[in-house]
Amino acid sequence: YGDYNQKIDYVFKVVLIGDSAVGKSQLLARFARNEFSVDSKATIGVEFQTKTLSIDHKTVKAQIWDTAGQERYRAVTSAYYRGAVGAMLVYDMTKGHADKNIVIMLIGNKCDLGSLRAVPTEDAQEFAQRENLFFMETSALEATNVETAFLT
Ligand code: GDP
Ligand code: MG
Repeated sequence: YGDYNQKIDYVFKVVLIGDSAVGKSQLLARFARNEFSVDSKATIGVEFQTKTLSIDHKTVKAQIWDTAGQERYRAVTSAYYRGAVGAMLVYDMTKGHADKNIVIMLIGNKCDLGSLRAVPTEDAQEFAQRENLFFMETSALEATNVETAFLT
């Protein structure tokens, strides 16, 4: 509550994303309160924490959002991302499942819904190239590229 009379120049919303148990909540606890808990339970209820920072002579209120355990159910909603200017994608560097020679294909599905497209083909293509992934746009509904994707 020390910043009660402080003029806030910016409020920046940043979201934490990543699988459950990778350490998102503990990263936030460390940042916001300089705390760490070894046996942290899945986050319940807490939506975000704030920390006021002085950056380049501006007072910035960082509003960091933490998934309230929804990532377990793949239930992180668009409301979570709304208004965010940044996202931190967190993974646990002690967990790695796949062989490093695995071949990965990025699939943009539902290409039959062209009028609703939000991700341009070129963007996905560029991303795939950069990340060394195969890339294909498919439609399970219209059977577009399905065979080709699996055969490739
Ligand atoms: P979340 O589900 O992504 O929010 O993960 P939590 O923040 O709840 O952390 C899951 C578990 O990993 C907890 O037992 C934490 O104590 C532990 N953990 C989180 N960060 C670290 C870290 O940097 N190092 C170690 N060794 N354990 C961590
Ligand atoms: Mg958590």
